[in-house]
Amino acid sequence: MNDLEDIVRHSLTIRGTVQGVGMRPFIFRTARELGLTGLVRNAAGEVQIEVQGMQRRIAEFAARLRGEAPPGASIDAVTATRIEQVYGEREFKILASAARGARRPAISPDLATCAECFTEINRLSFSRRAAYAFTSCSHCGPRYSIAEDLPYDRATTTMRAFAMCDSCATEYCDPADRRFHAQPIACPRCGPELTLLDAAGNRIGNGTQAISRAAKAIADGKIVAIKGVGGFQLIVDATDAPAVARLRTRKRRPHKPFALMMPNVASVRTCCHLSEDELRILAGPAAPIVILRRRSTSCVVPNVAPENPWLGVMIPYSPLHRLLLDEVDRPVVCTSGNLSDEPICIDNREALSRLADIADLFLVHDRAIARPLDDSIARASNGRIEILRRARGYTPLPIRIESNGPITLALGAHQKNTIGLAIGGEVTLSQHLGDLQSAEARSAYLRTIDELLRLFDVVPELLACDLHPDYASTAVGEDLAERFAIPLVRVQHHRAHIAACLAEHRLEGPALGLAWDGTGYGTDGTVWGGEALRFDGGEFTRIGHLKAFPLIGGEAAIRDPRRAAVGLLLEAASNDLEAISSRWFSAADLRAFRAMAERGLNSPLSSSVGRLFDAVAAIFGVCERPTFDGQAAMQLEWTLDDGADRAGAYPMPLSDSAATFVFDWTPMLSAILADLRERRSAALISARFHNALVEAACSIAERAGVEQIALGGGCFQNSYLCRRLEARLHGAGFRVCRPRQIPANDGAIAFGQIAIARNLWEKGRNVPRSTR
Ligand code: ZN
Ligand code: ZN
Ligand code: FE
Repeated sequence: MNDLEDIVRHSLTIRGTVQGVGMRPFIFRTARELGLTGLVRNAAGEVQIEVQGMQRRIAEFAARLRGEAPPGASIDAVTATRIEQVYGEREFKILASAARGARRPAISPDLATCAECFTEINRLSFSRRAAYAFTSCSHCGPRYSIAEDLPYDRATTTMRAFAMCDSCATEYCDPADRRFHAQPIACPRCGPELTLLDAAGNRIGNGTQAISRAAKAIADGKIVAIKGVGGFQLIVDATDAPAVARLRTRKRRPHKPFALMMPNVASVRTCCHLSEDELRILAGPAAPIVILRRRSTSCVVPNVAPENPWLGVMIPYSPLHRLLLDEVDRPVVCTSGNLSDEPICIDNREALSRLADIADLFLVHDRAIARPLDDSIARASNGRIEILRRARGYTPLPIRIESNGPITLALGAHQKNTIGLAIGGEVTLSQHLGDLQSAEARSAYLRTIDELLRLFDVVPELLACDLHPDYASTAVGEDLAERFAIPLVRVQHHRAHIAACLAEHRLEGPALGLAWDGTGYGTDGTVWGGEALRFDGGEFTRIGHLKAFPLIGGEAAIRDPRRAAVGLLLEAASNDLEAISSRWFSAADLRAFRAMAERGLNSPLSSSVGRLFDAVAAIFGVCERPTFDGQAAMQLEWTLDDGADRAGAYPMPLSDSAATFVFDWTPMLSAILADLRERRSAALISARFHNALVEAACSIAERAGVEQIALGGGCFQNSYLCRRLEARLHGAGFRVCRPRQIPANDGAIAFGQIAIARNLWEKGRNVPRSTR
C-alpha cells in the first residue's frame, strides 16, 4: 500500500456554538500542523470542513477538534463522511461563508406604527384589533427588537412563541393582504397579552383594563414601568413636579434631562416649537426622541429638563404607547428603564428586580425583546437630520462606505460606545451601548459583539480598537486578536472621529479635521481633545491643538470642572487663582494641587476643548458639580441668548510652537476674568467664549490650505457652535461636513476605526498585530 492510496478525504460537519468563536482559524491552524489539505467554511449554523491526508492524521485532527477547541466554542455534534479525494490540492483554506453575501441580513430596524394600524386599534373601530396593543403589519412594527436570528422569519423571531390563529394565518398567507408575511402578525386571539403588575409582581389587570389602570396610576403621580419596543421605559406625569422629582430621586438622576412622550403632534406644538423638518423626523418611521425648542408656555414642569431651553420629545410609536397616551392625555416623561448608566432592562423578571425601587407598577407583556435598544435621539439642523444617539429605529441599517476589504470588527472607545462590523462595503453600527463603566454595561457589550458576528454569520478578519491602553474595549480587542489570530489595529481616537465624518460623507481628502471632545488618548501620551488634524493621502498630521493644561487628579478632573479650572488658572499663572480656588478648595488642597501640577503627578496635560468648557463653566459658576457627562458644556450653551452672534469674541490667538499651531487661551482667560469683575452677564461671557472657539477654528482653517473641513467629537453636539462655525467657514469659501447619520460623539468611533483599519489594509501595509 503506497502513501497515495492511504490518502483519504473526509467531510466533517460541526454543530454547536461554533460560529464567531474563532473556530475556523483554529481548524485552519490544526489542519496545517497535521499537514492536511482541504477547506473550512461557515454555513447556516454549522462549520463545514473537508480534510484530506493520511487516515491517521485525519483521526488525530478529529480528536483535536473536540479536545482543543477555542474556549468560546461548544461542540454538540461532529458528523463525518468519507468523500472522493481531490487531486492536486496543495493547501488548507478558509473559504468565505457558504451564505456570505446571500446571508447579508435583510433585516429592518423597528418601525413606528403606520397610520392604517393606528386606525385599526382605535377603540371605536370595528376591527378585531381594536385596542389591541400588538397590532402591526408589513409596513410597521417591531423588527430588529424581535429578531433572534437570520434570515428574518416568524420562526427566528420572539413571535415564534405564538401560534397564529386561522384569521391571522389567512392574512399572513394572502399576497393581497397588508399583513402578507408580516412576521409580528398577531391579534387578541392568538398574540401577546398585556398584564399590569404591582411592585411585588402581583397581577392586577389584563388587556385594555391593564392600560386603563396604568393610565390612571400615571395621572395619580405614580411611576409606571412599561415594556416598550426595545426595552423597559419609566413613565411619569410630566406636568406633576413632585412625581418627576420622585423619579429623579429613585433613578438617582438629579439633573440630566428626561425625554418626553406626548399624545400627538398637536400636543407637541403646544409645548415646543416644531419646524417642518423636525415634524418629519418626529413622525417618521424611526420615531426618535427629537430635540425641540421648548415654549415658555409649556405645561411640562421645569424639573423634567432643568435650566434647559430644549426638550427631547417623542410621539407614540407603538400601539401600546398610543393606547396608553390616549388615556393619560398629557405629556409624560418616558425614560429608559434602568438606573443611571446601566443598560436598559428587557426582561420581565429582570425589570421587576432591577426596577423594584423605582417603579410603582409594571405594564408588561409576553412578547420577548431580543436585545436592548434605547430610544434614538435626533435633531434637525440646516434641513438635515443629525443623529445624536443611534439605536431603535436606525439599527441595524447598514451604512455604505467607499471601501472594500476584510471583514472588520471595530470595538469603539469607552463612553457612549458602539461596535462596528464591516462586511464588504457595508458597515453595521451596533445600537448605542452606553459607557463601559459598569460590569452590566461590559457584559452587554460582549453579548453584542457575539450577537453581531452570529447574526451576520461571519468571523472577523481584521480588528480595530482605540489607542487607549486602559479602555475595556481595548482589552476586548486584544483578547479577540488572540482568539481569532488576526491583526488588531489601534486607532488614535481623534483620527477616528475625523475618519468617521469623512467616511460617512464619502470624502477622501485632503481635509482639515477639527476633533473637539472630552478626552482621547493622544499619540504622545497626553490627553487630546482640541485637535486640528490634516488628512491627506490617507495620512493624518496633527497641525494644531489647544494649548495644554494640567488635569489635576487625572480621571477626577474629567468629572470635576473645578479641578479643570484650577489647572487652567495654574497653567496661566493667574493672579485670580487663590480667590477662585478658595470657593471650592482649602489652601492646603490648592498647595497640593500646585505641587501635583508642577511635578506632573497624576496631572496629565490635556489639550481638550471639552475640558476647557468645563473650566470656563466652573470659573464663572454656571456649573461646578455636574451630575452627567457634558453637563458643564451644555449649561454654558444654555446661557446663550439671541444676542450671541453680535457679542464679539474673546482673543484666542494661534501661536506657532515648532511645527504645530497652538490655540492660546491665556488672553481669553484674562478677558473672561475681567468681564467677571465687571459683572457682565453670563449670556455675554458665554457668547464671547463660544465665538472665540469659532474664530480660532476659522484661523486654523485659513492656514491649513485645504478647502474641505470635517468636524467630529462631542463638542459638536453644541448647536450654537456648529451653526456659527459652519456659517463662518462657508462664508470664507470652505466646504464643511459633520456627522449626520452617526453621532458626533464617541458613538462614531467604531465607524471611524473601520475606515482607518481598512485603509491601512487596502494600501497593502503590513498591519502588525499591535499597531501603535
Ligand atoms: Zn401597520
Ligand atoms: Zn390572530
Ligand atoms: Fe471622543
